Amino acid sequence: MADRMPALFIGHGNPMNALLVNPYTQRWAAIGASLPKPKAILSVSAHWYIEDAAVTVSTAPRTIHDFGGFPRELYQVQYPAPGDPDLAMRIQKLLTPVPVRRDDRWGLDHGTWSVLCHVYPQADIPVVQLSIDETQPPSFHYEIGKRLALLREEGILIFGSGNVVHNLHAYAWGRHAPEPYDWAVSFETRIRELLLAGEYKPLLNYEHQLGSEAELAVPTPDHYLPLLYVAGSRIQSDSLTFPVEGVDGGSVSMLAVQVG
Ligand code: ZN
Repeated sequence: MADRMPALFIGHGNPMNALLVNPYTQRWAAIGASLPKPKAILSVSAHWYIEDAAVTVSTAPRTIHDFGGFPRELYQVQYPAPGDPDLAMRIQKLLTPVPVRRDDRWGLDHGTWSVLCHVYPQADIPVVQLSIDETQPPSFHYEIGKRLALLREEGILIFGSGNVVHNLHAYAWGRHAPEPYDWAVSFETRIRELLLAGEYKPLLNYEHQLGSEAELAVPTPDHYLPLLYVAGSRIQSDSLTFPVEGVDGGSVSMLAVQVG
């Protein structure tokens, strides 16, 4: 279908990207310019990783500065996109019988706004966030992605924000950009191959099937799981491309994955 909206996973990396013009953020802006304008955005961010599935229902979601120790300028960034309570209800219905709580306290966390402020700088497209239920296995998140695929036919952008490889212990904070670690490159390469081949079982079973590198690349699931929502929303005829590539600080993959 010609007007099916693509789905997008973006590696957000360092929150400072919100303020920076660099090869990553320039690519994010180019992606925004290349996509049809969505009616609304459903964002699944690594930074809303909680004990249940919840969806934001506020008409004016607040910009959440959910980090510490960054320059004052970063706390002043606002992303005043409207919410979309109707879309939130629609998501609740689509996911039945999975219980989805209506949440009026969360807003847009930096996983969402640090990227969207480059992709859609006007902040004029409504954004709804869906939490990642940390009590559920990877297959659950993939299945939710599948059920959400229908929204793409309605011009809604399914947007996952995390990082395929995310190891902050190994990350070179403030140091000169080092070469990527071998395990980071090798894990990311494997993920790309599996995505292109449409082999989802190892993607879901990464802890057991992708070797010891998975422990280093995905020390906690929060930044990896948003990818599974986007992968789940892929329809067989969709193309799959990597519009942003690179590894930041040696251990954070900035890979973006576009479906459709
Ligand atoms: Zn993050």
